[in-house]
Amino acid sequence: MSASPPTAAVGFEYAPAPESRSIVDLRPSYGLFIDGEFVDGHGPSFKSISPATEEVLSEVCAADASDVDAAVKAARRAYNRTWSRLPPAERGKYLFRIARIIQERSRELAVLESLDNGKPIRESRDVDVPLMAAHFFYYAGWADKLSYAGYGPDPKPLGVAAQIIPWNFPLLMLAWKIAPALAAGNTVVLKPAETTPLTALLFGEICQQADLPPGVVNIITGAGDTGRALVEHPDVDKIAFTGSTDVGRQIAISAAGTRKKLTLELGGKAANIIFDDAPIDQAVEGIVNGIFFNQGHVCCAGSRLLVQESVVDEVISSLRRRLKTLRVGDPLDKNTDVGAINSAEQLARIRELSDIGEAEGAVRWSPPCDLPDRGFWFPPTIFTEVSQAHRIARDEIFGPVLSVLTFRTPDEAVTKANNTPYGLSAGIWSDKGSRILAIASRLRAGVVWANTFNRFDPTSPFGGYKESGYGREGGRHGLAAYLAGVEEA
Ligand code: NAD
Repeated sequence: MSASPPTAAVGFEYAPAPESRSIVDLRPSYGLFIDGEFVDGHGPSFKSISPATEEVLSEVCAADASDVDAAVKAARRAYNRTWSRLPPAERGKYLFRIARIIQERSRELAVLESLDNGKPIRESRDVDVPLMAAHFFYYAGWADKLSYAGYGPDPKPLGVAAQIIPWNFPLLMLAWKIAPALAAGNTVVLKPAETTPLTALLFGEICQQADLPPGVVNIITGAGDTGRALVEHPDVDKIAFTGSTDVGRQIAISAAGTRKKLTLELGGKAANIIFDDAPIDQAVEGIVNGIFFNQGHVCCAGSRLLVQESVVDEVISSLRRRLKTLRVGDPLDKNTDVGAINSAEQLARIRELSDIGEAEGAVRWSPPCDLPDRGFWFPPTIFTEVSQAHRIARDEIFGPVLSVLTFRTPDEAVTKANNTPYGLSAGIWSDKGSRILAIASRLRAGVVWANTFNRFDPTSPFGGYKESGYGREGGRHGLAAYLAGVEEA
């Protein structure tokens, strides 16, 4: 009998599976969405590019102070004349209508989000857009039930809300802001981030399609100067800001002493804690989801991994094995796990902090991966031998970079997890429910996930402690931010 020939190792490659971008009808330039119409702004124009290719997608306007004033005036008129006078059930109908249009146009929204932001289509299609629709559905349901929300028998809206959002989840952050504000009877002026303005403008079209009364939603584009003019506008009743702690601090200073109600959703440096009794394979999936989802551009990312010392070798070797299977590349390819870094500035920051990590003595590792020649890319990266004093253990990197620390006892895990100026989120992985509950109650973080990570739901409040900000978005709590005379939870 002849011996069978040695078999070569069979490797399976994924064929490219690009999502077509033909569903997106991009205009060469966009105006501002004010009073129900797209109008020309008075400020200079700037380009929105695809971070994956550096291709110019469209030109948008940096709204100046006169544009901001026009948007706030439109919102005030709409508040006084229509929106605050509508029966709450009618407001709810508009929100339901918007939610359904989001579902109908979900592919278009997802493709444009991935083009402008660089995130994988798998995420924009399966996470961002469905969650966006879910927020509108959820708050549509609250519109005529505010009297039962636990905030008094007849809670009143605040008026005009100025809303400023970052670039990491443009559509989802828009939904977190606009849906509860409108449900509570407010009108809004929203400014998306300067690197991701396009889907918010598409949302302006959705408002038109839903026949939303003019001025109820206004979208103005621009960078920090536009944002500053908006939050400092004297006729704004409420400021809702999501972004960096530094800018949040400036906004808090400018709002101090005014009547403006303020909520701040800021940065984070979350601990993801793995106990030795955790199911390691599941935990590794949770670690990957915690820090490599959305290229790590996630305020609540599990960027500090705390592993019990007795299982650290096993966890790290499983994690390395798993990272070798992640596909980095074209955001529109349905196989892609990790997309492009959102901007050249963000890439420079990730590189700088990673270089500092190495210089301070941590050990850097990335799986072999071919990065595209054009665009902004950074490979999934793990740092081991990290101490609490290292910058990479303290500063928010906001990229696909994980810092691994170890602990021996539950007390040490809690002390290390809380050793941060932030307090947005945390994760616990353990086989024992009692341990999870005991540890969770000692963590100073707004959200604590148990045996999962980065899971969001419109019914669940989200927000931080300490330098992660104040106020809650989502759930019944999210209504409080938009109602008069209601203290935040
Ligand atoms: P950023 O603070 O630079 O910008 C956020 C927004 O604020 C942008 O729209 C920007 O144009 C605007 N802005 C800038 N300067 C302003 C000023 N002086 N006045 C008013 N508006 C101004 O933050 P970023 O780099 O876009 O986003 C990343 C940050 O956002 C990270 O720190 C991240 O943790 C945080 N974030 C927090 C949450 C949360 O829910 N806590 C969610 C997402 C992102």
